[in-house]
Amino acid sequence: MADFDLAIIGGGINGTGIARDAAGRGFRVLLIEQNDIASGTSSASSKLIHGGLRYLEHREFRLVRAALREREVLLRAAPHLIRPLRFVLPIHEARRSATVLRLGLMLYDFIGGRKILPGTRELDLVTDEAGLPLKSRFHHAFEYSDCFADDARLVVLNAVDAMERGAAIRTRGRCVRADRGEVWRLVLNVRGQREEATARVLVNAAGASIESFAETVLRLPPRHRLRLDKGSHIVVRRLFEHDRAYILQAADRRVVFAIPFERDFTLIGTTDRAFVGDPSMVLPSGEEIDYLCGAANEYFRTQIGAADVVWAFAGVRSLYDDGARKPQDIGRDYALILDERFGEAPLLTVYGGKITTYRRLAEDALARLAHFFPRSRPWTASSALPGGDFVYDGVETLIERTQRTWRFLTADHARRLVRAYGTRVDRVLGKSTGLDDLGLRFGADLTAAEVRYLMTKELAQTADDVLWRRSKLGLRFTKTQTEALDRYMAGSGGAPG
Ligand SMILES: Cc1cc2nc3c(=O)[nH]c(=O)nc-3n(C[C@H](O)[C@H](O)[C@H](O)COP(=O)(O)OP(=O)(O)OC[C@H]3O[C@@H](n4cnc5c(N)ncnc54)[C@H](O)[C@@H]3O)c2cc1C
Repeated sequence: MADFDLAIIGGGINGTGIARDAAGRGFRVLLIEQNDIASGTSSASSKLIHGGLRYLEHREFRLVRAALREREVLLRAAPHLIRPLRFVLPIHEARRSATVLRLGLMLYDFIGGRKILPGTRELDLVTDEAGLPLKSRFHHAFEYSDCFADDARLVVLNAVDAMERGAAIRTRGRCVRADRGEVWRLVLNVRGQREEATARVLVNAAGASIESFAETVLRLPPRHRLRLDKGSHIVVRRLFEHDRAYILQAADRRVVFAIPFERDFTLIGTTDRAFVGDPSMVLPSGEEIDYLCGAANEYFRTQIGAADVVWAFAGVRSLYDDGARKPQDIGRDYALILDERFGEAPLLTVYGGKITTYRRLAEDALARLAHFFPRSRPWTASSALPGGDFVYDGVETLIERTQRTWRFLTADHARRLVRAYGTRVDRVLGKSTGLDDLGLRFGADLTAAEVRYLMTKELAQTADDVLWRRSKLGLRFTKTQTEALDRYMAGSGGAPG
């Protein structure tokens, strides 16, 4: 008998989503992540829970429809992490005509299965405040709905839920050997310690590294089915006051988002460049930063340059190339490839996918494995993620309640905590009656009580884990504060995981 039913390589959105779904069905799950949870592409996305308006141009109707319908499922599951967002699309006739945009948005609304999100409307940019930050040549726009998410926290909460349902998660662990027989025999290196485990099924969800993992650790012949594209984002001081986002049509026909981010900032992205190299070492190039500044400068009155960038990040998209299509037509949908051999344990490889469709991908993965795990049922469509057990539009009420209970919190502090922890905010704040009860303050509003919670419940081990993946407080921390937090965390004896 194997130690685990399922061993999963990769702690991105797809690996943790499968781990959560499988653990909730009662399977014994092991997940191995070489760095921190969400340290790969899943923390470097545009953070949109969306159908992808642009993919309509590529006729990816099936993907767009499935993704659009997933928006409200995820919004209900994690209303603290995911919020509806209105997108302002200024009309630029030389790029796409208003008629084409109107038809595209009608289709987007029609196939979107909306119950909560409002539909498309037209905007007069001369009278609407969305026109204020834009150059005067833009007179009209469309406005439509999608959702915005904290991508890294979404991954973390899937991992937390998986653990609470019995999954074992090893971060900063590498699978260095995998021998295939009737079961998989895995050798792991977890922070310098050798561990061994057996599993009935192996899932390769290593994102952009799936093929290199298959070749080097699983010793399988190269498949060359993966195409890697790099996408970068920049963050600048806020370019506008309201809470809507912009979708800008760039000169190369791509679209660039400008999204209100972390109260004081604007997130601008993304680029799309072919990528070769090690996906864990990907950084935005100067040329990409110039491209994003240029796209923003074409529309906004406030002009930005590389010197205004306070943070920039890049990620690698992995796209499945079935060999049948031209490179430019390779889609954003996912593919699940099951390798079954008589008398040998199966291998499931996850190609591609989006943050938006991870839950469906996990369900499909378990459906592909139904032969090995009979009598299991999908359950995640109507189940909240940790802290998300409140109504989809209840964030403001929860913030008010939090401020009434912990009167010493400022409005911004209460808002940040509720947005991060939802109903679990009480587990972070406990019985504290004053800020001093929360212990040391490291910078911004980060206290020792919160850091302890992140270390014991959310697998955080380093300052980066806390400042860039469990939160975005890295935007507000100095180098000295970050080093002090790292020292504190190293001295706290670590946490399980
Ligand atoms: C620029 C950009 C913007 C995007 N924007 C959006 C968006 O707005 N909305 C949306 O829905 N989708 C978006 N996507 C797509 C989405 O981000 C990805 O599809 C998704 O994050 C992929 O998740 P993953 O779990 O497959 O991969 P990853 O998140 O990369 O996870 C794979 C994990 O495997 C680990 N790993 C690798 N090798 C090993 C090993 N040998 N042992 C152990 N662990 C290993 C890595 O460290 C990594 O953490 C975007 C993608 C990019 C690049």
